[in-house]
Amino acid sequence: MLDELHEECGIFAIYGSPDAAVNTALGLHALQHRGQEAAGIVSMSGENYSVHFADGLVADNFTAADVVKKLEGNSAIGHVRYSTAGKKTARNFQPIYAELSLGFLALAHNGNLTNAVKLRKNLINRGAIFHSTMDTEVIIHLIALSQKATLQEKIIDAAAQIEGAFSLVIIHKDGIIALRDPYGVRPLSLGRLGDTYVVASESCAFDIIGAKFERDIAHGELISITSEGIKSCQPFDKKPSKFCIFEYVYFSRPDSLIEGKNVYEMRKNIGIELAHEIKIDADVVVPIPDSGVPAAIGYAMQSGIPFELGIIRNHYVGRTFIEPTDKIRHFGVKLKHNANISVIKGKRVILVDDSIVRGTTSKKIVQMIRDAGAKEVHMLIASPPTISPCFYGVDTPDKKDLIASHMSCDEIKNMIGVDYLGYISINGLYRAITNSKRNDENPQYCDACFSDQYPIRLTDKIGEATPLFDTIK
Ligand code: SF4
Repeated sequence: MLDELHEECGIFAIYGSPDAAVNTALGLHALQHRGQEAAGIVSMSGENYSVHFADGLVADNFTAADVVKKLEGNSAIGHVRYSTAGKKTARNFQPIYAELSLGFLALAHNGNLTNAVKLRKNLINRGAIFHSTMDTEVIIHLIALSQKATLQEKIIDAAAQIEGAFSLVIIHKDGIIALRDPYGVRPLSLGRLGDTYVVASESCAFDIIGAKFERDIAHGELISITSEGIKSCQPFDKKPSKFCIFEYVYFSRPDSLIEGKNVYEMRKNIGIELAHEIKIDADVVVPIPDSGVPAAIGYAMQSGIPFELGIIRNHYVGRTFIEPTDKIRHFGVKLKHNANISVIKGKRVILVDDSIVRGTTSKKIVQMIRDAGAKEVHMLIASPPTISPCFYGVDTPDKKDLIASHMSCDEIKNMIGVDYLGYISINGLYRAITNSKRNDENPQYCDACFSDQYPIRLTDKIGEATPLFDTIK
């Protein structure tokens, strides 16, 4: 049972590099936190293409020999994915690829389309044959069926019909196209490696190959990289900016620079803001690793309470080891986290975590800290209560399974067994990231999982006549 949120994908693309596939494998390795279940790379040299997919981690399954032997060409795109168990099938590997009237094309997608079911039904009625259950496949069909003349025009035509969150990279015989939805929900960055260009979900993928971060790809921007250089256009109607605020809280890697902000600094700011909002008399601030660490540092700095690594995380626990049987799953939290008794025993402990999803893991961690001899256990959460699921590219449980959707803060406190439970306020979160409070008329970010206000139409879920800020009941 999922007790943490999962980003569903990371994407990477490179054009004009003799080591395109190796660089792509390295870039995907840096993006591994965005999806650990499968990875794929498509490389091209002129009209020739090569494809390699594998279940599991990039480093385990894309050996240098594999990549060099199987993936030829001077341009490549890649994808790492997370999926829920039911959807895990080789048919759903990305990049997704096809032969179209204008030649071979492969596409990798980060995000989630909110009208894919409707589009899929229409396409099937028109004779389309789908090979996967992915929302992404509708994009390929729409490109294939477009009556526009050039590939770029066909892609724009297709993108104008889809709704939801999409950061895309596309490879074709003449180069790479990268595209971000008009709301800019999921990140996408442009980098430079010598004379070549690189595109990635996060800038940490540039660092690993020695590329330099150039800039974020703008919301609604399309970039085309070919032998003639790089061209940019803004083919869509302008929409309000709705970048996912949870990328700063949890999903992105702390060393990434996203939308002009260093993620680590943002998380530390959240901790500082938490300390302004919630004061607790305690002896140590202990992060729940890894994502609670920067906020705990910020809280400790601002509150003056010492920061201690009171929980040590074992990084070598694979999902498969935890998940196969109920008996083993029961030990899950201890396989991953262990209390560092010497800094816990006899102390009043403040635990800092990024979020609470179902609450089951929090409960086990609190018990572990009590068993280690803590005198008091308090918990601070670096995001507001998660009350609603995400439909824009993050795998979340149903609303009924999000503990904060049906329990008050006090009830959750009692359920997980802490002496005090506090969340940062929504305005505190905005202050940490923007220096100003939330604009309630038109929030600066997507924050639907905290506010229940969905900024992009949920056509498949609710229907087309829904206004901005749909709510899910
Ligand atoms: S619903 Fe939450 S996780 Fe999804 S895009 Fe919006 S803020 Fe991010």
